[in-house]
Amino acid sequence: MTNSDSPIIFWFRRDLRITDNPGFHAACATGRPVVPVFLHDEGVERLGAAPKFRLGLGIAAFAAELERLGSALILRRGPALQALQSLVEEIGAGAVWWSRGYDPVSVTRDAGVKSWFKDHDVDARSFAGHLLFEPWNVKTGAGGYYKVYSPFWRAVCQQDVGPALPAPLRLAKPSHWPNSDALSSWHMDAQMNRAVPIVTRYQSPGEAAALAKLDLFISDRINDYKKNRDFPALDATSDLSEHFSLGELSPRIAWHRAQEAVRVGSAGAEHFLKELVWREFAYHLMFNSPHILDRNWRVEWDDFPWSADETNPDFVRWCRGQTGVPMVDAAMREMYVTGRMHNRARMISASYLTKHLMVHWKLGMDWFADCLTDWDPAANAMGWQWVAGSGPDAAPYFRVFNPETQAGKFDPDRAYIDRWIAQRQEHPMHTALEFFDAVPRSWGLNPGGMYLSPGVSLDSGRKRALAAYSTAFPPR
Ligand code: FAD
Repeated sequence: MTNSDSPIIFWFRRDLRITDNPGFHAACATGRPVVPVFLHDEGVERLGAAPKFRLGLGIAAFAAELERLGSALILRRGPALQALQSLVEEIGAGAVWWSRGYDPVSVTRDAGVKSWFKDHDVDARSFAGHLLFEPWNVKTGAGGYYKVYSPFWRAVCQQDVGPALPAPLRLAKPSHWPNSDALSSWHMDAQMNRAVPIVTRYQSPGEAAALAKLDLFISDRINDYKKNRDFPALDATSDLSEHFSLGELSPRIAWHRAQEAVRVGSAGAEHFLKELVWREFAYHLMFNSPHILDRNWRVEWDDFPWSADETNPDFVRWCRGQTGVPMVDAAMREMYVTGRMHNRARMISASYLTKHLMVHWKLGMDWFADCLTDWDPAANAMGWQWVAGSGPDAAPYFRVFNPETQAGKFDPDRAYIDRWIAQRQEHPMHTALEFFDAVPRSWGLNPGGMYLSPGVSLDSGRKRALAAYSTAFPPR
């Protein structure tokens, strides 16, 4: 077999889809046998409990889709380079192709894989697919990267994302399939210290589910998106984040569908495009300033007296939805049960933690990274640093959200709070009760228990934060 008709290994990562997957499309278009592979590698090892569990569901759905097309998904465990080296040798592959990742762990790992295979005469190639705009292709007039969203939005509006690619028509199989691990042997839900069946009910893994959700959003919700998207009790947003996170939906397909909606005069469509571009902006920032993931993006925050103690009782109560501030607790309980949290609720709970409780944003970010099934490294880091005030284009740090005022404005009839907080209700909703079935027994919570009063009152928390700001950043 020559290199030009040898099998291509297509290494799937956060691109678990067939449609508009440029690298996979190119591999299939060669007519050479394609061996789809997913690795439980160093990147997967680092995932938090809920993202790993959701990835397991996504892999199962994607493997079933490939089988339906007469193909298969080969699963292997181990450091990426070693696992790929073995596979290349076993099947005589002449190429290893994949869709690019942009976080520092993926960038370093992929650079090592690419250089080793190139040195050993194996065609190693990476493709776009996770984003609409490659982070290095959007540049300021001075040639740098954007640190503010609005000019970034204006810049990307000048770029063409290109047409979406159809699912490949033909998928040539290898003459024999290499061995594969059983997905069950990976125990992707092992770190979930909560009731997996409850959280599972709120997930809709797979490309078909993602496309169906996009259809529903475009037909029923996008028109009112701008008007309703801030009300957490309404089903007003797309709920596509779990799919974008694992690449079950191509952002380009969503982009074109929303552009069509703009053309037919849908009132909310442009706003939806802007949210897709917030996701792009998060990746642009992470790629160009990776320290956004673990350090204050603005160094002037380095001496700010956040509490970074994981055993801080205020932090523990926040994690468990027990702060005594209903809007914050509702948000935290929603995340614990569903694996997701409404965007407005993410902002309120993050603001409460970093401002009223003066806890370091990194602790909150890490807790989200353990609990969210739509976890995304770039969006999570940007979201936390934006709220805390330490990030680029951040909310003014001295603006402290009052969770009660926010609830009055965005949850005026307490529908969201009642959905998630059972205490003080005569007939609590099943969602509110599910929280108590989902939490670890060791938390000792039950729906008949008392609803606690806040450890720090909203007024004193606000004053404490403002005093700390004026010491850290004295007026000039
Ligand atoms: P829609 O409103 O329908 O928006 C469509 C898509 O646009 C989303 O699916 C998402 O991909 C993107 N998007 C929307 N808002 C944002 C935003 N502010 N930043 C980046 N992308 C955005 N999003 C994640 O996907 N994963 C995270 O881990 C995550 N952590 C966050 C942490 C904090 C503290 C904050 C404030 C925000 C975070 N977000 C995160 C962004 C946002 O809350 C979610 O993307 C959104 O709630 C997902 O719901 P949806 O799919 O219905 O969004």
